Amino acid sequence: MYPEPLQDLIDEFGRLPGIGPKNAARLAFHLLRAGRDDAEHLSTAIAEMKRRTTYCPVCCSVSADGATCAICLDDRRDTTLICVVQDPRDLTVVEKSGSFSGRYHVLHGAMNPLEGIGEADLRIRELLIRVDGGGVGEVILCLNPTVEGDVTGMHLSRLLVPRGVKVTKIASGVPVGGDLEYADELTLGRAIEGRRSLDA
Ligand SMILES: [Zn+2]
Repeated sequence: MYPEPLQDLIDEFGRLPGIGPKNAARLAFHLLRAGRDDAEHLSTAIAEMKRRTTYCPVCCSVSADGATCAICLDDRRDTTLICVVQDPRDLTVVEKSGSFSGRYHVLHGAMNPLEGIGEADLRIRELLIRVDGGGVGEVILCLNPTVEGDVTGMHLSRLLVPRGVKVTKIASGVPVGGDLEYADELTLGRAIEGRRSLDA
């Protein structure tokens, strides 16, 4: 209905999560009216993000150009504590809570037998390598309070406890069935402080 280049952009926006047809058209028309520089900055940012974003070789969180991330490089942080999260966005929420000073490990998802997502699809092997490397005293499971998060937590606990590390799980207080991403910082801070052991 619109000229092809404009309709193509509307269609691309429409494929993004949470963007319906009306919002897709609104964004496209916004860019049509915007200056050429603004539109080019956006297209460059998308291309550079795809080209340069990599995963930290230590914690598997996002980093740039193959580098180790700033948290893994920060030697003021407690290397005996690893907080396991599903998603890099969860890491950001825990960081903002200010209640954790150890390091992280990002799984990039959770186990979901119904959808065929198993251990091999997550960064679990990388976590075990870190633990087997020694020096880790406690692994804190900071996973979504969902069935998938619980299944993943139980599986990790079965793998980690025999390796002689303490495995703890954040306290309830994070809404059940919700995404950790939406927990407020205070709630999450308390949940980390109130974590309980799974190996008792
Ligand atoms: Zn890292």
